[in-house]
Amino acid sequence: MEYHAYTPDHFDRIAELGCLSAEYRFGMKVVSQVLPFRVNRYVIDELIDWGKVPHDPMFRLVFPDPGMLLPDDFKQIASLLASGADRQALDRAVHEIRLRLNPHPAGQQTLNVPCLDGHKLPGLQHKYRETVLFFPRLGQTCHSYCSFCFRWPQFVCERDMRIMGPRTPGLFDYLRRHSEVTDLLVTGGDPLVMKAASLAEFLEPLLSPEFAHLQTIRIGTKSLSFWPYRFLTDRDADDLLRLFERLVKGGKHLAVMAHYNHWRELETEVARRAIERVKATGATIRTQSPVVAHVNDDPQVWVRLWQTQVRLGMVPYYLFVARDTGARHYFAIPLERCWQIYRQAIQKLSGLARTVRGPSMSAGPGKVEIQGVAEVGQEKVFVLRFIQARNPDWAQRPFFARYDPAAIWLDQLRPAFGRESFFYTEEYNAMQKSGGMKSGEA
Ligand SMILES: *Cc1c(COP(=O)(O)O)cnc(C)c1O
Ligand code: SF4
Repeated sequence: MEYHAYTPDHFDRIAELGCLSAEYRFGMKVVSQVLPFRVNRYVIDELIDWGKVPHDPMFRLVFPDPGMLLPDDFKQIASLLASGADRQALDRAVHEIRLRLNPHPAGQQTLNVPCLDGHKLPGLQHKYRETVLFFPRLGQTCHSYCSFCFRWPQFVCERDMRIMGPRTPGLFDYLRRHSEVTDLLVTGGDPLVMKAASLAEFLEPLLSPEFAHLQTIRIGTKSLSFWPYRFLTDRDADDLLRLFERLVKGGKHLAVMAHYNHWRELETEVARRAIERVKATGATIRTQSPVVAHVNDDPQVWVRLWQTQVRLGMVPYYLFVARDTGARHYFAIPLERCWQIYRQAIQKLSGLARTVRGPSMSAGPGKVEIQGVAEVGQEKVFVLRFIQARNPDWAQRPFFARYDPAAIWLDQLRPAFGRESFFYTEEYNAMQKSGGMKSGEA
């Protein structure tokens, strides 16, 4: 299949696909001014059940829904569109709404960008001691967009809102000087939109002895789900797989971090063949996804998703809480409900599927897991822990927040037992003031 993306420019053709009311279609058009969408033919033909649209989970995953904008924002854009306002007025309104959607959660731009010899390296993020994130310049888009995507600033037109490096050399110099880094996580967007040759440019050099401390290369991707042809019939599909083989033979652990939101993404024959081909290179496939309303907020979906993944030889890794960005009011689920979904799903699965950790919030101080709801003394509390933390010493210590059935993110939680702050608060505030990391600085 040839790759072809449908974007808001093809709105009329897309609208013909489903039996959607004129009002709904107008709502989609309004939302798509602010939140970009991009869908390819494979997703449209093979993953969406058009008989169930608009309630189909895969449809919800990639197409804008009128509810994704807050009512006032929706009204503003709708009236601009309806009155035939000029492009400039529309762009201005869109820009202001985007800025209110918290485009850079969790200190992405303020705290995580590392320095080398006094120069910032804008294409890298270094938050947790062992792992450096790399955003290759050519990998800042995706084969289709998830409508909950927290990387949406990468995809919209305003360049200064993106995380992106100028070139790769900063990467090599940084890794050379940081022998504590064992993992490189190549992320985006989706780095596998890139040509194999471009990927090889920065991955092959990592096989040289000076990078022996780098044990693991992870590649975050949705391509196994949204575009399995990347591994089957794309012109350089075989080159990509040969590259994977060379990395594995060169002694690296290569982990394809595959994003799956719903078991339906695993059911097609091409999806299965793509998984087989990736595994045959010696790479492992680990899986991760957020739990989001309208798509997968049902334990049964996760039971089948994780069960199928284990049967296909993948390792379930992370269950995330929807990030505090973009259309989060539409996708967010209370933390307690996230935990219930996780628990009810895990209880039905054997140990091999219980490798998945979560539900986890990727928040400013670190990845915070909701371990459960408990009663301690007279107080109902959330039991929490850091899976990863800006200060490695915070990890794995249980801590407690007041139970709050409506809370959807860490910033809404208050310390339990009448305490003023959490154990890490003071140190984290100090880090924010100094704008740096505890570790990872040379
Ligand atoms: C999740 C994440 C990592 C990887 O953490 P692991 O626990 O090693 O999977 C690294 N950096 C950032 C910023 C992350 O959010
Ligand atoms: S796959 Fe990942 S990067 Fe791509 S749109 Fe979905 S969340 Fe965003």
